[in-house]
Amino acid sequence: MNRLSGKVAIITGGARGMGATHVRMLVGEGAKVVFTDLNEEGGLALAQELGENVKFVKQDVTNAADWETVINETENTFGPVNILVNNAGISMNKTIAEMTEAEYRKILEINQVSVFLGMKAVLPSMQKTGNGSIINISSMNGIVGGAIGYTDTKFAVRGMSKAAALQFGPLGIRVNSVHPGVIETPMVTEGDAVEVIKEFSKHIPMRRIAKPEEVSNLVLFLASDESSYSTGSEFIIDGGLTAQ
Ligand code: NAD
Repeated sequence: MNRLSGKVAIITGGARGMGATHVRMLVGEGAKVVFTDLNEEGGLALAQELGENVKFVKQDVTNAADWETVINETENTFGPVNILVNNAGISMNKTIAEMTEAEYRKILEINQVSVFLGMKAVLPSMQKTGNGSIINISSMNGIVGGAIGYTDTKFAVRGMSKAAALQFGPLGIRVNSVHPGVIETPMVTEGDAVEVIKEFSKHIPMRRIAKPEEVSNLVLFLASDESSYSTGSEFIIDGGLTAQ
């Protein structure tokens, strides 16, 4: 119940999918949480449901000025930030031949540049307490190849997490990446969920895709002091997919 009591967290992309589950579970363990998203309607509804320890701020994660607003709102509402979960992201399933330059730059901005902006913006706030945990959501496609653009950004997130861990370690701030396999969220089930799940499951050693809560449990561990000596590491949660 209180694994995160006294901690202040920011979670991006929290209006739906895994981000929303991270918000619910971190609050459930006593954290005070600001979560952000482009989806204002979904964000406000979730914030209203979860009550006074949660605040929604509309944010485009690719926008540096929005990041400043989010950090200021968080500090003014709950105090200095201890936990940042860079979760917002998009997928794109096109070949190199099909993908336009604009689409390629768009996925780099949302999945990769946003993580740089988030880590840069949160640093002064985390330094105030000298106790920070940054959790960057990559993918199994940050370990093995998949779609062009998506794979590129998720490998980058893994590398950026290590580079930041080296810089931030002496400051008491840990940085790790999380690498989910196939998780039951709108990102993968939009369209025909039942068929998508059946098709994916055939290729997974555990023969099922995961519930978002299973990833949130890992995020919780990394957010808490239980993971106090883990930094610069990748945490794979994929039912054995990349072990093949
Ligand atoms: P989702 O599409 O359900 O949710 C993503 C959220 O991010 C949405 O609410 C969306 O509005 C928000 N978002 C998108 N662009 C944004 C922007 N510019 N600014 C602010 N918010 C923005 O996705 P999900 O499946 O919950 O994925 C969450 C993260 O996990 C992503 O980084 C994704 O790449 C990663 N991931 C997902 C899976 C999976 O199987 N679902 C697997 C591996 C990694």
